[in-house]
Order: sequence, then C-alpha cells, then structure tokens
Amino acid sequence: MILRNATLPDGTRHDIELKDGRVAAFLPPSNAEPGVLALPPLVDGHIHLDKTLLGLPWVPNQAAGNRVADRIEAERQVRAARTVPESETGASLVRQVLASGTLHMRSHVDIDNQLGLKNLHEILKVRERFRDLVTIQIVAFPQSGILRSPGTAELLDAAIAEGADLLGGLDPVGIDGDLDGHLDAIFAIVRRRGVGVDIHLHDGGEGGIAQIRAIAERTRAAGLQGKVAVSHAFALGSVPIEVAERTADLLAETGVAIMSHGPGGAAIPPLKMLREHGVRVFGGSDNIRDAWSPFGNGDMLERAMMIGYRANFRHDEELALAFDMVTAAAASVLGIAPYGIAVGGPADLVVVEAGSLAEVVAGRPRRKLVIKGGRIVAKDGVLVP
Ligand SMILES: [Zn+2]
Repeated sequence: MILRNATLPDGTRHDIELKDGRVAAFLPPSNAEPGVLALPPLVDGHIHLDKTLLGLPWVPNQAAGNRVADRIEAERQVRAARTVPESETGASLVRQVLASGTLHMRSHVDIDNQLGLKNLHEILKVRERFRDLVTIQIVAFPQSGILRSPGTAELLDAAIAEGADLLGGLDPVGIDGDLDGHLDAIFAIVRRRGVGVDIHLHDGGEGGIAQIRAIAERTRAAGLQGKVAVSHAFALGSVPIEVAERTADLLAETGVAIMSHGPGGAAIPPLKMLREHGVRVFGGSDNIRDAWSPFGNGDMLERAMMIGYRANFRHDEELALAFDMVTAAAASVLGIAPYGIAVGGPADLVVVEAGSLAEVVAGRPRRKLVIKGGRIVAKDGVLVP
C-alpha cells in the first residue's frame, strides 16, 4: 500500500510505502498539492474499560456528592444493578476508541474485597480479543482503598500474578488516611513483582504535594525511575508556583510522570512548567460514560483539545504539546517502542485532513483512515468489518 502525498508531523511530505506491516520507504511525493496529514497512532494513557456503561441504556448519574468517597459509594450501587458483563461494555469502548485512532491504552481495573478479581478477568478477555489491534496495559486499581478494604493488598498481588501489568493506588491520605500504610502495601508488591506503578491522586493543596513527594522518594528508593506515574495530581495546580516548581524538580529527578485528562472541576497541573522542568506529562480519557462521569467518548484528539482548553493553551506550540501528550509522550510512559512514523517502524498511522498539529487539536478532524500493521482498520471514523 502506498499512502500518497502525506505530510508527517515534522512537516516533510512523502509518498509512504507500507509493506509487511512496516513503513518500507518514504518516496518523493507524487504531486505538489498539499495532501493528507499522517499522524502516529493515538495513545490513551488512562482509561477505565471496566467502569464504562457505553452501549447500555442511559444510567442516571446520582451520586450524593462530589467527593471521591461519594462517587465510590454511587458506583457500588451502579455496579450492583449491572446485568451486562464488563467484557461487553469494555469491548464496545475499545471498538469506539479504535475507530478514532487509538492503538495503545492503559486501563485501570477496579479491585476490592467485594469485586475480587472479577473485573480484571473481564478486561483480560477484552485484551485477548483485541490483541492484534490494540495494546491494552492493565493497572490493578484499588478503587475502594487498600487499608479500608481489608484483603485488597493480597488481591492486588494476585492480580499481577494473573496478568495485570502495573500496580495502582488511590489517595493514600484522602481515602486510606495513612500515607505510609498505603504506600508500604503498594511498594512491597511492586518490589516483589518488579512492575511499575500508576497512582490516582486527587488530594489537593500542600497535603497532596506531600504525597507526591513521598511517591517520588519511594520511587527513587525502589530504583523505579521511569516506571512510576501519578494520575491527576491536582495538587500541583493548587499550590503556589514555587512549590509546584520544587516538586517538578523532584519528579524529573526520580522519573515520575504526570497524567492529566484536563479536569473540568479541579485544578489542572501546570503542564508547560512541568515539561520545562523535564517531567513527562501525558494524557488520558479517564472516565467515559460511567458512574464517575456522564461525559467522554475516548477520542484522544478531543481529549487533547480539552486539555488545551483547560490549560489555556493558545499558541501552536502549546497545542502541539497537547498533541504530544496523547501520542509520543503517552507512548513513552507506557513503554511502547518502537513508536512513530519512521522507515522500518510499524505501519501504524492515523490519516486526517489538516494542515498542522495545532489545527488537528483545535479541529479534531474526522479520521479518514486508521491503519494498524499496514491494514486499514477504520475508515471515516467507522471500523472496517
Ligand atoms: Zn481514573
């Protein structure tokens, strides 16, 4: 297959030859007209495949309040009423994101002493079913806390043994009320199993910063530089900038990455400052049509737009940073390699009509083609059967 007259993100234009699942060659462009823009595959650095209610009749969202603890309780009720298995709704979501050009994702999967490993087993089925099309990295996620849900630490350990790739965590202070107790449990398993970590941290202010610093120090002590992420990290956006800058230096030094989904109601971390200080920042959908959020569709270009909107990005360079967060930066945090459009690399690309990355983020153009391993898997936003 030859993709004619395609501009790459770096502005160069070629006829791109795809052969045997690889990019075989960049040939001179067939004509002088501006053609399509070829993007590397989109990457969702934070999704919850087991939580989504996508494809089901609308489930009213009726959490009593907006605290994390209220949402956990509301979700228990939604979960109890669910009749369709998570593998089915999760598969619907994977099909939808695939059609929008996402070929790699990191999904957190709920684990607590009521669910046990049920959701993990359901999402392992989804991973197996779509294994030729999309990378699904699984985080064993203690949605109900670890200490306040006795038995969860053992379940998290078992989850890694059964195929989860990373260990999650949740507001050590805000939910478990014990910073060291929560982190002791996580890092004991991590050391035993040799996996990475991705911790949800909603706790804001100086208290949240103290938790981020503790996670970074433990990352250094465990020799896990480059394998740890903090998701949300609202605290970085809710303290004086000097405090956030000092924390950024520690994050850069210990290789701890920060995930943001462009939160609607909380402080967004100062993404440009973090990047300037050498911190890897990446993007994810987070909740999509579930007990936590009625919104979302898994389209990572739309997500990049929301991140840019919340971060008050205006310049092309800033929009390119938002694009990077849902492509190369997320791929780097997930350890997807090789990644990107290069001769000899995988023939994975997303083709759109746009003049620049900034225009892609602002306009979220229709995905003309999604190509995986040289094969067209979606056309004009619809999966090819
Ligand atoms: Zn999340």
